[in-house]
Amino acid sequence: MVSLLSSLGATDEDFERLKLVSDQLESDPTLPFRKSRNGRICLDPRVRRGYRLEKQPFILSCEEDFVRHDSETLRSFDEVQDDLQLNTVLQALLAFKFLVIHGVDIARRPRLDYARAEWICTLFNLRTVTTTGLLGEPALEGVHSDGVDHTMTTFLSSRNMTAESAETFLHDMSEVNGKRWHETDPELVKGKAQHRGFLDTLLVVDHEYKHSVSPVHPIDDAEPAIRDMLIFFTRKPTVAGHVSFRYDSVVPHRALPMSFGIPAVHPESAIAA
Ligand code: FE
Repeated sequence: MVSLLSSLGATDEDFERLKLVSDQLESDPTLPFRKSRNGRICLDPRVRRGYRLEKQPFILSCEEDFVRHDSETLRSFDEVQDDLQLNTVLQALLAFKFLVIHGVDIARRPRLDYARAEWICTLFNLRTVTTTGLLGEPALEGVHSDGVDHTMTTFLSSRNMTAESAETFLHDMSEVNGKRWHETDPELVKGKAQHRGFLDTLLVVDHEYKHSVSPVHPIDDAEPAIRDMLIFFTRKPTVAGHVSFRYDSVVPHRALPMSFGIPAVHPESAIAA
């Protein structure tokens, strides 16, 4: 990932800065073991640019295969700041995701407009914290989908976390929503992955596989265990009748503007590399 992202414009200093960005996280609207920020970004193939979108509330529904106490609830997160959005590694990760997903056929979700050119990305910077008496769950909701077309997860760092912690399981779409990761049908587990090193990245077609994640366990019980991640949800814009239709603006963010170019990748240069 370091060489790929460097070729997409990431600078050496920004790799080091990205490792520390999660120290600025403060709170989460609904989960006591998590600290979070989010921000919306439009990836526009017509001009080959990404740009920050204005703040909107966030919502996921049971209909989208997200079943949790805060499903159907409008959530307002602290906003991603310049320390993350202007980081060239972050911008290169967004370009990387666009280059992988754009133009590839996938299982389509209802009430998303696949005739539109743009991709709407919701970026989350998340810190999961396990302390005495409070278990940190990267996916408290158990088996679920994220209501999008593609989910990309990138590991930043961890502290005091056991090697068995935070495994990701991919499940057949017929697996039951909300099942705990260890209660699932082994026949329906289609893949397993674990982020271990800086920038380990997993990209899932969200309407083709469901997923679940095991908890964060501490090595030393007396200290907090911490896991820092970037999560990139992307989907096509919604149409009327979708739970997010009213919160899907493509107006640029006025107070926190950001935009970046998405490099073209030519087949010949890919072969040469
Ligand atoms: Fe998820």
